[in-house]
Amino acid sequence: MFTKRVIMRYPTKLVDKPIVSKLVKEFHLDFNILKASVTPNEEGVLVLELIGDRKNYNKAMDYLKGLNVTIQPFKHDIIRNEKKCTHCGACVVACPAEALIVETKSRKIIFDEKKCIACELCIPICPVRAMEMHY
Ligand code: SF4
Ligand code: SF4
Repeated sequence: MFTKRVIMRYPTKLVDKPIVSKLVKEFHLDFNILKASVTPNEEGVLVLELIGDRKNYNKAMDYLKGLNVTIQPFKHDIIRNEKKCTHCGACVVACPAEALIVETKSRKIIFDEKKCIACELCIPICPVRAMEMHY
């Protein structure tokens, strides 16, 4: 049995389409949805754990790529460099998982690593490059 965690990003026109159910019906993959969200520009982001036969998994990936769905292995962590962060808040609007939020009292930006889906959208937005990817 083969198990793989992936991040799927799919364009606006596919947000309402039953892509995941196709993975089950046509490629006999089981799945666990670890995270799901739609970003501010309406891009869909799914973090999935896919379980099944490796050949079927490869076929499913080809099918998704044919739909312009971007697939990325979910194997890295996002961390915030606390020394660099100025709490400017620019990353908050970019985060589809509400992992970056404004603390009401202090107005500081809180990073909740447990909610982070490692979509990387906060990395280019941060003016001081405080959000970093670690492999
Ligand atoms: S954009 Fe960068 S500096 Fe600004 S709050 Fe987010 S992590 Fe901190
Ligand atoms: S990578 Fe950044 S934008 Fe994406 S979920 Fe994690 S904190 Fe939010």
